[in-house]
Amino acid sequence: MKSLIIKKFTDLKETILNLDSNSNSNSNSNSKVKNINLPLDYYDAEIPDIKDDEVLIKIGACAVCHTELDEIEGRITPIKLPVIPGHQIVGRIIKKGKNVKKLKESDRVGVGWINSACGKCRYCKNGLENLCANFVATGKDVNGGYAEYTKVKENYAVLIPDGFTDEEASPLLCAGAVGYRSLKLTGLTNGFNLGFLGFGASNHLVLKIAMALYPDSKLFVFARSSNERNLAKKLGAYWTGDTADTPPEKINAIIDTTPVWRPLADILRHLAPSGRLVINNIRKENYDIECLKNIDYARDIWMEKEIKSVANVTFNDIKEVVDVAYRFNIKPQIEIYSLLDANNAIFDIKNRKINGSKVLKIS
Ligand SMILES: [Zn+2]
Ligand SMILES: [Zn+2]
Repeated sequence: MKSLIIKKFTDLKETILNLDSNSNSNSNSNSKVKNINLPLDYYDAEIPDIKDDEVLIKIGACAVCHTELDEIEGRITPIKLPVIPGHQIVGRIIKKGKNVKKLKESDRVGVGWINSACGKCRYCKNGLENLCANFVATGKDVNGGYAEYTKVKENYAVLIPDGFTDEEASPLLCAGAVGYRSLKLTGLTNGFNLGFLGFGASNHLVLKIAMALYPDSKLFVFARSSNERNLAKKLGAYWTGDTADTPPEKINAIIDTTPVWRPLADILRHLAPSGRLVINNIRKENYDIECLKNIDYARDIWMEKEIKSVANVTFNDIKEVVDVAYRFNIKPQIEIYSLLDANNAIFDIKNRKINGSKVLKIS
């Protein structure tokens, strides 16, 4: 089967610089292009064998996540390389193991970041399998969805209702699900102000979900690019501004999806008393970490303000976000790439050319 793999860690900044200098030079460019390390390699992989409790899925679409960038650049490390990345998979079951009871062939299902958890530990037993020490992540610890087929245990495949195309449903599985978990972790009450720091694939989807679940709350969007701010306004944000701007009101909860530190350091002062900032990032890039020295306790932390991270997702988060999206007819804004064009999708994320969720259309 066709697949794309991460073979080794790659510094994308360097690759992009090399690509740019190649496209600017008109002689010998072919031989130079050959020397460039693309982050993903084509690989003709075996179609996976399934166990008794697993289903085999023919993939229709797989959305691209910033986490793939973290894996490629080595900020989070797969158990072994090479690995097929991708954890926002939608496809149809074409084969099932003999112990599979709830799902049948031809069911359309989704697979998110949670591939499995132990099911026995304190966290798993209390609905927090996202924190399980044996959490297995799709597209990191096991092969994911940048491929024509994948497999998963039936308990971790969510049914996808009609009403979405494969491409529309796929970003719900991480951008949507982790965003939805972040929204739950804010502890927001309807009517209180909610802010978004960064407005990429996840937050634009969470804004739509927040409008449905907290109809009386005012929504504030901080984003560097005017494109993102315009999109936020169009979708119904009450206020939009740059990450360094001052909003007209204090904000009770803020979801941060920016990959760096400065916006976070700038925004804490706008939290209301008891306000909570939820960081929805698996890692932050550390080149601007020095700016944290500017955090002022009295201005930025005092008055019971909180900072909290969101880690992974539970299977319930995925089920609930698919259900909320279906009930309120929420669809992500998407940009479609072919499977073999995945390197360009990755470069576009690195270069912050983001206009909604990037999705690989696979079949
Ligand atoms: Zn993701
Ligand atoms: Zn566990």
